[in-house]
Amino acid sequence: MYLGEFEFLFWLALRNGLMTNVERVCRNLSSFWMSQICNDDEEDVGHVFLKCNTTRKLWTSVIKLDRLLVFHDLSFHEWMTTNLHMLGNFRIAPANWNVLFSVICWMLWKRKYSLVMDTSFIEKEDLLRYCMLFMRHVIKAQESRLIAVIYS
Ligand SMILES: [Zn+2]
Repeated sequence: MYLGEFEFLFWLALRNGLMTNVERVCRNLSSFWMSQICNDDEEDVGHVFLKCNTTRKLWTSVIKLDRLLVFHDLSFHEWMTTNLHMLGNFRIAPANWNVLFSVICWMLWKRKYSLVMDTSFIEKEDLLRYCMLFMRHVIKAQESRLIAVIYS
């Protein structure tokens, strides 16, 4: 499945190129490294996409319970690359796991930045609903693109 819309985000995430608070401190752009969402830990890419309290709750609601330990124990690089290619850990729609995984990562990053940049912060109660809606739009767009290629 084509996930080009998200590839740049993942490319940056895997190369410490996303401006998390830890990355800002490392580049002398800030002295504040804590997560602004939870204020519980340093905000690196692993925290934003996997370990933040709200993020953990979101993953817990879409990952099979017997796979949660493995899901959270992988290194960040393993975690991201495995989930972009693995189809079996998702309990709602396994056939589209890589799309939902990509959408959730995108929304988590967008949510983190919306807290800093504007007032459109998505409350944690609405996050999964937004992700599921966004996933349906991505799948529909991919199907439309496929149909356009077939009939061109
Ligand atoms: Zn946090």
